[in-house]
Amino acid sequence: MRAGIEPQPGIMEIALYEGGQSKIEGMSDVVKLSSNENPFGASETVQEVIRRAALSVHRYPSTDHAELRAAIAEVHGLDAERIICGVGSDEIITFLCQAYAGPGDEVLYTEHGFLMYRISAHAVGATPVEAKERERTVDVDALLAACTERTKLVFVANPNNPTGTMIGGNEIARLADGIPEGAILVLDGAYAEYVEGYDGGAALVEARDNVVMTRTFSKIYGLGGLRVGWGYAPKPIIDVLNRIRGPFNLSNIALAAAEAAVRDTAYTEKCRAENTRMRAWMAEALAELGVPSDTSCGNFILARFHDADEAEACDAYLKRQGLIVRKTGGYKLPHCLRITVGDESACRRVVAAVRAFK
Ligand code: PMP
Repeated sequence: MRAGIEPQPGIMEIALYEGGQSKIEGMSDVVKLSSNENPFGASETVQEVIRRAALSVHRYPSTDHAELRAAIAEVHGLDAERIICGVGSDEIITFLCQAYAGPGDEVLYTEHGFLMYRISAHAVGATPVEAKERERTVDVDALLAACTERTKLVFVANPNNPTGTMIGGNEIARLADGIPEGAILVLDGAYAEYVEGYDGGAALVEARDNVVMTRTFSKIYGLGGLRVGWGYAPKPIIDVLNRIRGPFNLSNIALAAAEAAVRDTAYTEKCRAENTRMRAWMAEALAELGVPSDTSCGNFILARFHDADEAEACDAYLKRQGLIVRKTGGYKLPHCLRITVGDESACRRVVAAVRAFK
């Protein structure tokens, strides 16, 4: 086995709640707040589309995803020819590493960056390189300083996971300008829909030849279990990625559901508004209990405790109350817990439990 291919942190929390079922013995009233899922699930419209699509599972799905790409292009005002769809945005990240990085190359991201960047870099034999953040926020100067002539991909999630922080368009453009010739800046917009009016970096993709944007249906659209994501990139990069994409990478249920979800803009708006409301409420209530967090732009907050021991003890206490949150030691933030913004009752349970813990 190659060095770096180690067990992944966070799997334990997922194992406690597989397939929507609580696995904590003797406890049924369990809320999973560890994977940044939409607490309201997929919209009614999407669920109906899924039921209908299930009738044609004996047919192979579309290979070019034309209808889903057209829907995404229409709703977001993009060029359908520059869209590629994958099995979650995870697969787009994997494709990018497979196509553009290999042994001897470097894949750069930030110290509290999404774990998939490191996993994908290792999978292709490239060297993962981590740049420091400043106050748990992506630091463009640190990223530029960490670039070498071997840097092939630079991943930045904006908003960032697990910190929830965001950097502005000018900073992103400065990064795109400063990375080495031939390197690609990947803007991971998994949480972009939670930021009103934010295009996830789409305009920058259209203005440059070295910027790619990734997006997902796993968060605000409530389709994490179906695994659909997409990328927006200059046409030459799309052509390369399509050469390594399997022809039937997405199921017909996933394609139909994602198309209906992206068109259901009223539902997306409702979920964004509710997330903004409960995120502010929970962050403030926890801060009053001595558990601060940075302003989050995603559907989660990164709650900071005095030290790793306190975070660990609070996590254990929350689990005993049926509240599964995410430990962030694997993200080099052992004194924190990442808590997904649930529905109002879940947020109230979290605050009550932290109050009791304190
Ligand atoms: N990027 C970021 C920053 C994420 O947090 C996640 C999911 N946790 C993903 C990408 C992957 O999402 P998916 O593969 O479900 O589309």
